Amino acid sequence: MIYNADVLVAGLGPAGAAAAAAAAQGGLSVIGVDRRHEIGIPVQCAEFIPLPMGKYAKAEGVLYQHIEGMKSFLPSGAVAETEFPGLMINRAAFDQAIAAQARQHGADLRLGSRLTSLDKDTSTATIATVGGEITVKYKVLIAADGPHSTVAEALGLPELETVSTRQYTVPLLREYADTDIWLSADYPGGYAWLFPKGKWANLGLGLDKRFADDMKIPLDALHRQLIAQGLVGNEITYRTGGAIPVGGLREQLVVDNIMFTGDAAGLTHPITGAGIAAAVISGERAGGAAVALLARQDQDALADFEEDVRDQFEVAVSRAVERRRWLDQYWKTEAAQTDDLHRKGWIAFPDYFLA
Ligand SMILES: Cc1cc2nc3c(=O)[nH]c(=O)nc-3n(C[C@H](O)[C@H](O)[C@H](O)COP(=O)(O)OP(=O)(O)OC[C@H]3O[C@@H](n4cnc5c(N)ncnc54)[C@H](O)[C@@H]3O)c2cc1C
Repeated sequence: MIYNADVLVAGLGPAGAAAAAAAAQGGLSVIGVDRRHEIGIPVQCAEFIPLPMGKYAKAEGVLYQHIEGMKSFLPSGAVAETEFPGLMINRAAFDQAIAAQARQHGADLRLGSRLTSLDKDTSTATIATVGGEITVKYKVLIAADGPHSTVAEALGLPELETVSTRQYTVPLLREYADTDIWLSADYPGGYAWLFPKGKWANLGLGLDKRFADDMKIPLDALHRQLIAQGLVGNEITYRTGGAIPVGGLREQLVVDNIMFTGDAAGLTHPITGAGIAAAVISGERAGGAAVALLARQDQDALADFEEDVRDQFEVAVSRAVERRRWLDQYWKTEAAQTDDLHRKGWIAFPDYFLA
């Protein structure tokens, strides 16, 4: 079966759903595909969004609680407390709410549908669906297919550098409005976190892949420590993990009539691992650029998309890439046990922003 669409969106996480919503709202015909059978499930996220993203968290069932601050624990035991306003969200409900908007605007979203190959010259994609293979002929393709982008692979673009993560959801035994962050030689190339969501918390860690052979060992150790402190319970109700891009933006965000967004574009912050806001913003921009190109014949629209996204994200992401590289030489040395090193390597400290 062959379908024609103004815009094909590959991947319906926050980037793809936002792109589909913006393109469909602008009057374009949109087909969105995701290999998952339910949007946002399984959740692979610590579920924190910065406060300005709150307008996307208004649908019923999305908001868990408000966050006020961040506590950053250093190797010596010193703790830095900083303001860090944000929201804890039900990530599946968040993604589903954006996808629902795309559908309301008329986007045709197909689940259980995996983009398997691409013919760039004819702007044709092959999609494996539960009902068999379909072909989609598009005018614009928006790649929102996450850190291991199939679109990028089909174009022969390099794999993004990623870190590995592991996370448990555990009972939280008292009210908590901070995100806790542990910086330590035990978490080389990453950090550990506790993000509260009412009576539960997401407890996880990210590690450089070279040191991520068995992430269960450090995560279980932290879990036991917090049980001993009376902060969390023993039970583990959910286990997840996933890859986080940490190598910075792709060299090109636009290849002919294809735009890269969100994790597929490498927009995730390489130090904090936060990527939801960048995914939504870049997705909306890509959808808007497709409208500008196809409905208003603005031939510069895709180049403008690339320029706008770089203007907004490149400075912060590049600084974080540079910090990662700098930190990299000290993992597994004594310096990794010092507070000083982590003050230069973590966004809560002014030292992080010094040249
Ligand atoms: C453990 C963990 C915790 C995190 N915590 C946070 C946090 O608290 N806050 C934050 O801001 N960020 C967090 N992140 C990062 C955040 O989850 C990502 O930056 C965000 O999901 C990026 O959105 P996206 O739409 O670009 O990609 P994704 O959400 O990865 O969506 C990509 C979609 O593409 C689909 N797909 C992939 N390949 C294909 C294909 N070939 N065909 C069809 N569909 C395909 C996938 O099924 C998926 O639904 C975390 C990441 C991890 C792994």
